Order: sequence, then C-alpha cells, then structure tokens
Amino acid sequence: MPTVPHLPLQALAAATFLAAGSEHAEASAIASQLVGANLAGHDSHGVGLVPTYIELARAGLAVQNQHISVVSDTGAVIVVDGQAGFGAVIGRESMDLGIAAAADHGLGLVAIRNSIHLGRIGHWAEHCARSGMVSMHFVNVVGHPPLVAPFGGVDARFGTNPICIAIPGGDEGTPLAMADLATSTIALGKAREAFNQGVSAPPGTLIDGDGRPTVDPGVMFVEPTGALVAMGQHKGSALAVMVELLGALTGGTTMQPGNPRTGTVVNNMISIIIDPDAIGGAEFLASEGGAFLDYVKAARPVDGADEVLLPGEPEKRTRQRRLTAGIEVSDGAWSLIVDAARSVGVGEEVIDCCG
Ligand code: NAD
Repeated sequence: MPTVPHLPLQALAAATFLAAGSEHAEASAIASQLVGANLAGHDSHGVGLVPTYIELARAGLAVQNQHISVVSDTGAVIVVDGQAGFGAVIGRESMDLGIAAAADHGLGLVAIRNSIHLGRIGHWAEHCARSGMVSMHFVNVVGHPPLVAPFGGVDARFGTNPICIAIPGGDEGTPLAMADLATSTIALGKAREAFNQGVSAPPGTLIDGDGRPTVDPGVMFVEPTGALVAMGQHKGSALAVMVELLGALTGGTTMQPGNPRTGTVVNNMISIIIDPDAIGGAEFLASEGGAFLDYVKAARPVDGADEVLLPGEPEKRTRQRRLTAGIEVSDGAWSLIVDAARSVGVGEEVIDCCG
C-alpha cells in the first residue's frame, strides 16, 4: 500500500483532470477537494474518486469547465443550477453567493440543483466557517439506483443523503465543531473497500436481497442486490427521507423511479448559511459553545474508550497526522488512479513523482 505525501498526490490528481480537458482552476479545485477528504480521513471521498470522475466526464455525464447558472435570487434566497458541472466548482461558486447573502442579510439560503458529486460536504461547511458563518447542509444523491433501504423495508429507496452542520470559532478559521455524516450506517465506498479486500462489513450496516442482515459487502455488487442500512434505525431513516424531499425543494429530482438513472452521481443541496452576528453574536457563540464543548469532552469515558471525542475531532486529528506522515492509498485504488492518469495521457514522470 503506497503512502503518498498530499502535495504530489494533489498534483497527480490535478494533472489527470487537466489532461482530461479541465481548465487549470477546475483541475486544481477538484484535486484539492479530493485530497482534502483524504487528509480528513474520508478516503471514500478522496482521490479514489479520480477514475469515477474521469469516467463521468468521458461519458458526457459530468460537464467539464461548467459554472453555476443563477435561476433566481431574492437577496437571501438564491437558487442555482449546477448544469452537471463538477461539484468542486459548483459548490464553491454557490457557497460564495450564500456567504455574501448571509453577510448582507444575516441569512443566506442557497439551493443547488443538478451538481455532479459535491464530495465531502464538510469541505463546504469549513469554507463557510472560514468566513465566520454557521452553516447547515442537506444533500440528496440521485442519477443512479438507490442504495439505502428505509427502516423496516427490504428494498433500497434512497441514497446516502448526508447532513452537515458546522459552528465557526475554532483555531485558524476552522469550525469549533462540525458534524458531517451520511444518513446510512456506512458509505457505499466503505462497503466497496471491504469487498475489494475480501473482508466483512461491520455488523448492522447491510441487508441482503431478501432483507436479511449480513456482513457480506458483496451484496452491494452482485445480483440480487442488497442495501445499506439507514443510521440510527427509524430515526436515521426518517431523516434520510426528509433530506431526499429537501432535494426536491431545490427544484432537483429525487430517487422516485420516474427519473432517469444514467449512472451519474448528481447532488442537490440546500445550504443554510447564518451570520452569528445577526443573532446571538459570534463572540458569544464561540465562548458559550466552547465552554459547552469542554463540558462534553470532560465526560468520563466508558470502559474500553480512552476519551470522549467531539464532532469534527477525528477529522482534525487525521489531518494533522496525514499532513506530515502522508496518505495511505490502498493498492487497488492506487492502480486505478494510475490507470486513469495514463488513460488521459499524464506523463510517467508525474506518476513517478507520486509513487
Ligand atoms: P463518519 O461516520 O466517519 O463521521 C460522521 C461524523 O461523526 C463526523 O462529523 C465525525 O466527526 C463524527 N464522529 C466520528 N467519531 C466520533 C466520536 N467518537 N464522537 C463524536 N463524533 C464523532 O462519516 P460518514 O457518515 O461515513 O460520512 C463520510 C463523508 O461522506 C462525509 O464527509 C459526508 O459529507 C460524505 N458524503 C457525501 C455524499 C455525497 O453525495 N456528496 C454522500 C454521503 C456522504
């Protein structure tokens, strides 16, 4: 398993998108978001997606060098169409509009419809936090068959529909705390990793084609397909359904079967961006919130646990470690990344710099 420093890895990813036809700014935005996910420890949303993104572009499902089109703008409520552009660009342009609206009005609601995969949603919440904004994001995932079964159901009916909430006020513009989670128990990428490595998935994360609990990750990749289990039993399932409906609120589509499933990965996202100075004040939020988080952190750990962690803490720690130690890329993912780079004509010298 190669361990690669983040900068050469980012350079290889950027060179791949550039060679595939992205302009420089787009190539580096996608590469930086993917490597940022690896740094945060979310390899399912990291450079392992380079081959998928290249395939989407090649198939014409993702439109390179695309920008947002503003559908409507009432000042605080902005609706944008991503026009099947890459999420790294669509997300950034949309968040910047939402942050500006929140600075002007105290609140900015951005509804993004029809963006290709917006990646790790925490990336966008961190972007808002750097501008001092609280943000909440609700995302559905469409354009392909459903992956997650509703509580009590055998058949998959929706995607991994993430929710992300971040509070600003941490060190150097980072969030004080950030919860960024799929509403399924595990991401499909984690099931794929287990399948490729021939190991079991964690108990309680999968059901087979007949709805029976299983730890065999193969149920997601062979017929008859099983499903991922929603997090938190009926509560996670309920949240996932509501997030799917918020996808329709953007004007984008849901997983209902009347919509095309072309194999693309489209995200529709509602982002609510709030200037804390328009409400209780950024300073109060950071000090009162900080005191609360200290209190949470000081809870006695249960037997077998070293400490209580805060939302966002695992990601901060992994980032610190990987920034110096490098990013471990599995052999399978590495060979697919190299194949994707070669397929668009990236030179061996760029690949060798990384390997
Ligand atoms: P996860 O289960 O690893 O973490 C979920 C949250 O729990 C994080 O905020 C983390 O900081 C927090 N956490 C972890 N351990 C903790 C502990 N011990 N105590 C307190 N908090 C703790 O994340 P996930 O659900 O696998 O999601 C992974 C990523 O996938 C996210 O970045 C999400 O945005 C992304 N995602 C994207 C899409 C998309 O379509 N764009 C779809 C699904 C998921």
